[in-house]
Amino acid sequence: MSRIAIYPGSFDPLTNGHMSLIHRGLKIFDGLVVAVANNPDKTPLFSIQERKQLIADAVAGDARVEVDSFDGLLVDYAKKRGVHTVLRGLRAVSDFEFEFQLANMNRKLDPQFDSIFVMTGEDYFYVSARLVREVARFGGDVSDLVPGNVLEALLRKYGQSKRIS
Ligand code: ADP
Repeated sequence: MSRIAIYPGSFDPLTNGHMSLIHRGLKIFDGLVVAVANNPDKTPLFSIQERKQLIADAVAGDARVEVDSFDGLLVDYAKKRGVHTVLRGLRAVSDFEFEFQLANMNRKLDPQFDSIFVMTGEDYFYVSARLVREVARFGGDVSDLVPGNVLEALLRKYGQSKRIS
C-alpha cells in the first residue's frame, strides 16, 4: 500500500524552501499531493492556475508528485481525497505556534487527520513566499531562493525593467 500525504500551502509563489520540503517529503512518503489553497482573505500575486502551473513545471517529470488546488477546509479536501496525512514545514519557533494550533484544530475537525512536520534545512530557514514577493517587487535578487521558472514568472510579473539577476 502506498503512503500518500497532502502538502498544502499558498505557494504564492513556490520557493526553494517549498522544493526542499517536497524533496524531503518524498523520502518519507511514496507520493505527495501538493495542494494550493484558495484563501479568499488574501489577494494573491499569482492566480491559483499560475501557482499550479509553476509547481507542475518545477517538479516536472516526477510522477510521485500531483499538483491540485482546494477551496474551503483542508480536512474536507483531505477526506474527499481519502488522504489523512498532511506534510508541513517548520522554519522557526515562530512557525511552531501557528502550526501547533492548526494541527490540533484539524484533528478536532477530523480525528483521523494527522500532520507530519519536517524542519527546513539551514539554507532555507529564512525563505518565505511573502519575503520573496517583497524582495522581487523592489528588484532584489531572489535567484537563489526560487526555482528558475518561478524567477522568470516574477520577472514577467514585475516587469523586465527591474532586473532580478
Ligand atoms: P509561506 O509561509 O512561505 O507563504 P506557505 O503558506 O505556502 O508558504 O507554506 C506551506 C508550508 O510550507 C508551511 O508548512 C510552511 O511552514 C512551509 N514552508 C514554507 N517555506 C518553507 C521553508 N523555507 N522551509 C520549510 N518549510 C517551509
